[in-house]
Amino acid sequence: PSPKPRRPIRDLPDELISQIAAGEVVERPASVVRELVDNALDSGATQVTVRLLAGGVRLIAVEDDGCGIPHDELPIALRRHATSKITSLSDLETVATMGFRGEALAAIGSVSEMALLSRPAHQPGAFLLDARSGELRPVARGTGTTVEVKELFFSTPARRKFLKTDATELAHCIESVRRHALARPDVGFAIWHEGKLVEQWRATFVPGDAHLQDALARRLADVLGEDFVAQSVAVQHRAGPVTVTGRAGLPDAARSRADQQYCYVNGRFVRDKVLTHAARSAYEDVLHGHKQPVYALYVEIDPARVDVNVHPTKIEVRFRDSREVHQAVRHAVENALAAPRAAALAAGTA
Ligand code: ADP
Ligand code: MG
Repeated sequence: PSPKPRRPIRDLPDELISQIAAGEVVERPASVVRELVDNALDSGATQVTVRLLAGGVRLIAVEDDGCGIPHDELPIALRRHATSKITSLSDLETVATMGFRGEALAAIGSVSEMALLSRPAHQPGAFLLDARSGELRPVARGTGTTVEVKELFFSTPARRKFLKTDATELAHCIESVRRHALARPDVGFAIWHEGKLVEQWRATFVPGDAHLQDALARRLADVLGEDFVAQSVAVQHRAGPVTVTGRAGLPDAARSRADQQYCYVNGRFVRDKVLTHAARSAYEDVLHGHKQPVYALYVEIDPARVDVNVHPTKIEVRFRDSREVHQAVRHAVENALAAPRAAALAAGTA
């Protein structure tokens, strides 16, 4: 067979680059929710409200009371690789914000009809930017930002076909907010679907470390249920540069599915084999068969010892010394489970 005629090398158009990049970041409505709530938290919001229609496919609107975006920067926010969060490679090594890649808004805007409404505290009024037309006009709004995403994947029907039922997409969206909520008891969250309030988790004032465990326990009870807290013990452990806090479920609270295992690294929800393996091994002697432990574990570590720039969605991280982290988590959970009196009390058998 004769070879295909060669075509010349060309730069891809900007829009197409963003659509390709969107494939990595935006899989379904819940991915949009994750990115927009990340942004809301980075903006210093104390209240985040998520409004959805049709499981997020028709509409995802995330509203915050954070720092806002000045009107002249709204068009820049939509550009690829435009961010206010880092300016140099060294910033990346100590990054404390959820975002830093400057990709999310550009990616989401390329596969939806998106609008940004924002008002910084010092700006006399709010402005709305329509991502598609580029139109910028004044609107009424208090301080903060709302990002509206309509008709997700309308221009990429192949992608849209992969979406599940509205109920399934809604459940994923709620799970996405839940992951954020479990890390931030100091922020209030509300989720509305089709005009109905489906979840509401109120903020707890967190004045200092002493109260953090209390605030966290309250948030865990709100989000995962009273049983989660009643059937778990507090985790508090420090090993060198690694601090592990949170709650570990008692063996009796184990479930058939691994659907209540939350791990955070420096406030970021992650899915990480080192952490899940370490947690699992702490249950080695007390949990048999295929039962899955429940836990919410918060690892704090010097940012220089963990690379968060491994995956476009930042759900994976790489530890500089994974043994050090594995040991810290394993010991943290083992110690918590070994406190027999606390365990017995929590289980209501003391
Ligand atoms: P990143 O979060 O990685 O910086 P994004 O594309 O998500 O990239 O956002 C681009 C920029 O837009 C952010 O750096 C921030 O300055 C601004 N921005 C986005 N969402 C908000 C928000 N809710 N409140 C304030 N600023 C925002
Ligand atoms: Mg972002």
